[in-house]
Amino acid sequence: MTASIIDGKAIAAQLSEQTAEAVKHLTAEHGIEPGLAVVLVGENPASEIYVRSKTAKTAATNMRSLLYKLPETVKAEELFELIDKLNTDPTVHGILVQLPLPPQIDSQRVIEAIAPAKDVDGFHPLTAGLLSTGLPGIVPCTPLACIMLAKHVHKSLTGLEAVVIGRSNIVGKPLAQLLLMENATVTIAHSKTRDLPDVCRRADIVFAAVGRPEMVRGNWIKPGATVIDVGINRVPAEGGKSKLVGDVAFTEASQVAGAITPVPGGVGPMTIACLMLNTLKAACTQNGLEAPSISPS
Ligand code: NAD
Repeated sequence: MTASIIDGKAIAAQLSEQTAEAVKHLTAEHGIEPGLAVVLVGENPASEIYVRSKTAKTAATNMRSLLYKLPETVKAEELFELIDKLNTDPTVHGILVQLPLPPQIDSQRVIEAIAPAKDVDGFHPLTAGLLSTGLPGIVPCTPLACIMLAKHVHKSLTGLEAVVIGRSNIVGKPLAQLLLMENATVTIAHSKTRDLPDVCRRADIVFAAVGRPEMVRGNWIKPGATVIDVGINRVPAEGGKSKLVGDVAFTEASQVAGAITPVPGGVGPMTIACLMLNTLKAACTQNGLEAPSISPS
């Protein structure tokens, strides 16, 4: 069997187009231009690439993009002052502080300093609490992207066996919550899980969010299962170059799976499209308007 490739780039383009259209209406009818502030501290090359593509996507979806670049040596208090200013700026609807941060800055304190209404990444503990209790709120971008990609393959996730590998606060745990809301039967596997290949083999859908290049092998996949690969790992390539690979051994897994996301071009572009959608929704909510219900077909 050769899996069908879930084209995250194309699905993200569709979602972004719908978001851009809804933003146009919001601006024309209510005079609200959603604004996303991105804060980048230091010169981490990977972070710079992520921030550049987020900034470009913000403008492409008709939203206002604000970029704040702070030096690697910035004092934590200066960053908190900036966050406070953005929290109270009515033209800013979403705030994103690109992680990782330099060691003098406590990332958890930064996450908690962002006003929950503007927490478009969805990392604030209040946002996590709303999600786990099933109350309306912002849904973290990468888990939301994963669900949209899974639903591109399966009209309904009800009753499906889903295995999430990874239990981080930003991917694994919120993803498991979303899967429960979709009525899937969820197993969260992690670094201490026994017989991980066996656990994986029972899944109708496998979500790999580990950060270990090509850890999930082809013989871990049940024939016909759907594979959503969240991992982004840079590894050495021929000619002294480097390339990106996921947490799943793509060539092997695609011989067994029914559908699979590629890396790059799967979860990555969808995550950015979901960030734009979250910013639009945050702008609506902050202005007492109902957020539009948008999802790719
Ligand atoms: P993390 O390091 O916070 O968490 C990794 C998780 O993997 C942990 O819960 C750990 O228990 C589990 N793990 C580690 N080794 C394991 C093993 N041998 N067996 C089973 N489980 C193991 O990472 P994260 O922030 O959740 O990110 C995971 C991956 O997803 C990374 O590659 C990251 O770059 C990528 N990522 C991609 C996007 C995107 O937009 N595509 C967004 C966020 C993260």
